[in-house]
Order: sequence, then C-alpha cells, then structure tokens
Amino acid sequence: MNAVSIHPSVDNGVRKGDAGFKGGTLQCLCATDKVEVKVDAQVAHSHVCGCTKCWKPKGAAFAVIAVVPRDKVSVTAHEEKLGIVDDTATIQRHACKGCGVHMYGRIENKDHAFHGLDFVHTELSPQSGWEEPRFAAFVSSIIEGGGARPEQMDGVRARLNELGLTPYDSLNPPLMDAISTHLAKRSGVLKD
Ligand SMILES: [Zn+2]
Ligand SMILES: [Zn+2]
Repeated sequence: MNAVSIHPSVDNGVRKGDAGFKGGTLQCLCATDKVEVKVDAQVAHSHVCGCTKCWKPKGAAFAVIAVVPRDKVSVTAHEEKLGIVDDTATIQRHACKGCGVHMYGRIENKDHAFHGLDFVHTELSPQSGWEEPRFAAFVSSIIEGGGARPEQMDGVRARLNELGLTPYDSLNPPLMDAISTHLAKRSGVLKD
C-alpha cells in the first residue's frame, strides 16, 4: 500500500518560518490573470487540516491552513474571479472560479469565537518565511475525504507525530479551549 502524502510542503520535513516575517502575497493557480491577495502580517495557528472543506493540492490528504486578522487581508488583483464556495458554511471560502483554489476564508458571524480572523493557505505565496504548520487537525476526517483508508490511519498518525505535527481529531487544545471559553462567556458561565 502506498504511503499517504500528508501535504507536499511537509512530506520531506517541516521547514520553520521566520520570526521576523511580515507577510506577503497569495496567488491563485491560474496561468494568467491570477487572483492576488495581500496578507499584511505573519500568520498564526498554522496547521495541517484533514477536514473535507479546506482546499488541498492534488494528491495531498491534508490542507495547510493558518489564520490572520481579517483587516490584514486584501484582494489586490482579479477580485472578479472570486466566488463564495458555500455561503451557508461558517467559514465563507472565497475561491477562484478559474482554478478552484481557496484564496481566503472569512467568518461573517460576529458571535463566532474566531470572528475577525481569516483562514489562508500560505503555500500559495511566492515568499517564504510564513509560520510553519505546528499540529494536525481533523485527522480522522481524511477517511471521509478519501485521503486514506481506515487501516492506514495508524501509519498516518505515526507520520504526523514524526513530523512534529501532533494529531488531533478536532482542533488542538488551545483552539478548542478558546471556542469553549467564548461560549462560556456568552452564556454567562464564565464571568470574566
Ligand atoms: Zn485561479
Ligand atoms: Zn479544514
């Protein structure tokens, strides 16, 4: 059985980002008239994601995705080629209608714990120095997405651990705690 490709940018090892990196541009995969998005900051919470919604390059079981404040994200070329993949989804993924790549995902629900953050794929950038992925989210979902068979999952999780990408079947504990804290404050369970 062939080994599962996690993602081309980490299959040969995770390359660390630069602490002083200040951002760059993302470009879609169209040969001409590329959609370009400017990201004016370093990203945070970079991870590989096995969910069925994130855009993945061909052959990869996981996406690489990170967040950045939405006011740091702007479309600088060919905005007319962008469309929302599913406007009922929590994260509205703005994708290129030409090549299908997701240029940024935005949460419009002001009550959501991650409102104010956009989701971006830094592999679409010609610049290097972006924060490297640091954990693996929604690992079990790659079965649903067709990235691996159930009997391959022990191997996938072993490989993720070997790469330093601790596998979780949801988000990692800091992000799960952030969501729960947000909900507890909203309901009044947490007073401060
Ligand atoms: Zn495109
Ligand atoms: Zn995902």
